Parts: sequence; C-alpha cells; structure tokens
Amino acid sequence: MSRYFGSKCRMCRREASKLFLKGEKCFSDKCAIERRNYPPGIHGQRRRKVSDYGLHLREKQKIKRTYGLLESQFRNYFKKAERMQGVTGENLLLLLERRLDNVVFRLGFSCSRTEARQVVSHKQILVNGQVVNVASYMVKAGDKVSVRERNKANLRIKGALDNATRREIPSWVEVDPVAMAGTFVSYPDRSDLPAEYNENLIVELYSK
Ligand code: SF4
Repeated sequence: MSRYFGSKCRMCRREASKLFLKGEKCFSDKCAIERRNYPPGIHGQRRRKVSDYGLHLREKQKIKRTYGLLESQFRNYFKKAERMQGVTGENLLLLLERRLDNVVFRLGFSCSRTEARQVVSHKQILVNGQVVNVASYMVKAGDKVSVRERNKANLRIKGALDNATRREIPSWVEVDPVAMAGTFVSYPDRSDLPAEYNENLIVELYSK
C-alpha cells in the first residue's frame, strides 16, 4: 500500500488548520502553522479565490489527513457510513473515531496517529486482553484497550502518556495512566467532536 512520505506540516499549511500530525511539536511554538499560516509553495502567499468545489475538496482532505488515511480507505469509510442508519456525515466521523490507531492516540498511548499505527502494528496493544495489530480494527463501546505488559517500559509510550494526561483526555474514553489501560466508554456524540469539521461538505462532494 502506498504511503505519504512528504512533510506533514505542509499538509496542515495546505489545509490552513492544525491537524496534529507530529506529536509534541504540534503543541509548541515550533508548529509551522504558528509560524507560517499560509499554503506551501512559492505562490502560497498569493490571495486566490476558492471555488465551491475547492471548498468541498479541502474539507475532505483535512479530515482524511487528520486520520492519516488514503483516498481509497477514506472512500470506503464513506460508503460504509452511507449504508448505516442515521446521518451519513456523523456516521463517517464515528467510524473514523472507532479505528484502533485513533483510540490508542486518544488514550494517550502515542503522541500522534502515525505513531499509534506503529505501536499497534508492533503488537504492543491489547484489546480486551488480546493482541490486535490491525490499525483499522473497529473498537466497540466498552472495549478495554491497554499496553501489552512487556511494552509498559517503552519510553515512547510512557512519554506520550505523560504528555497526554497533562492535556485533556476526551470524555468518551477513560484511561488509567499507571496501569496503562483504558476503556472506549461510549461512542462520541457529534457535539464531542471538533466543531470545525464540516462533514456535510464531504457528503456533498461524494454525492456529486
Ligand atoms: Fe501540523 Fe503539527 Fe506541523 Fe503544526 S507541528 S503544522 S499541527 S503537523
């Protein structure tokens, strides 16, 4: 499967939004958005009119990049969201939130979703006591997610957890930093997720 190896900060600058792709740097004044909040490239500082299509596209790219997905993966989530009962855009966000790599990040066991994916694929995470090494695994409400016993001394995980507990842990997860274990308590409501996401634009884009 192909992967994006370019600059992560460049993606944030393109979306004019902090996507929190680089861990601790994102919370410091070294964040590229804090320093150069304009699109990358030599024409980045030019003022340009954004078309209606561009507006829809940028919103889709922003959310897709936040969760670290490729176009085909993102579209598959959209198709799944369409088949579910309820509001498609909200279903889409819920599916993305339920990915194991995202839950590991939300619990603070990694400093970014990219790192979370690595932690999962290196078999360092248990779901309900079983090793799961698939980042796209769909976590259910009530599932227990923990760091595997032999990886509890891992300094990267410890450091990430330390930093995360100093910030705010989302309301739909619970974490015990000492036990390095947490619970995905319930599915988040739309109001729990960032208000700046406009998932309706994605629905409109894919429905065209
Ligand atoms: Fe984005 Fe983080 Fe880079 Fe800031 S430091 S531009 S939030 S990836």
